Amino acid sequence: MELLWAPWRMKYIEYARMERDEACFICRAVESQDPDRDLVLHRSGLTVVLMNKYPYNTGHLLVAPARHVPDLSALSREEICELGLMVRRSIEMLRRALSPDGFNIGINLGKVAGAGLEAHLHVHVVPRWLGDTNFMPVISNTKVIPEALNDTYMKLKKYADYLRKNDD
Ligand SMILES: [Zn+2]
Repeated sequence: MELLWAPWRMKYIEYARMERDEACFICRAVESQDPDRDLVLHRSGLTVVLMNKYPYNTGHLLVAPARHVPDLSALSREEICELGLMVRRSIEMLRRALSPDGFNIGINLGKVAGAGLEAHLHVHVVPRWLGDTNFMPVISNTKVIPEALNDTYMKLKKYADYLRKNDD
């Protein structure tokens, strides 16, 4: 059985995307005039939470600093803190919205580690369900149906208040 968490696959997908539009898609999400089109769920000023357009699994989110920096060492203490809080809130939101059984959380630093967009640091938050390893590798190699992605976006948007709560 193949493993679901195979970030090296994402490299090729993201390279293909970067060739199409050279601008950084995370920066575009930060500055987006059309958050729904760009699948942006939250912008806090310091961070952005958006859906991955090429997900490993339903509800695959990217949590990133708003600044275009490649590495954790480039972040201020405040940014690190906010990033961590947004990962925590994203998990909470996904739990409420999609009831996953677990999560993969990860950062790919550098091309060799599988980062497709290595210039802009981002944390992958991937919900997991019992049994999903059997079919997800197949799905991750096929085109994602845009309607399904948009359905998930609209569903998550209803729970986006979990990203905005300020009591943590
Ligand atoms: Zn960027």
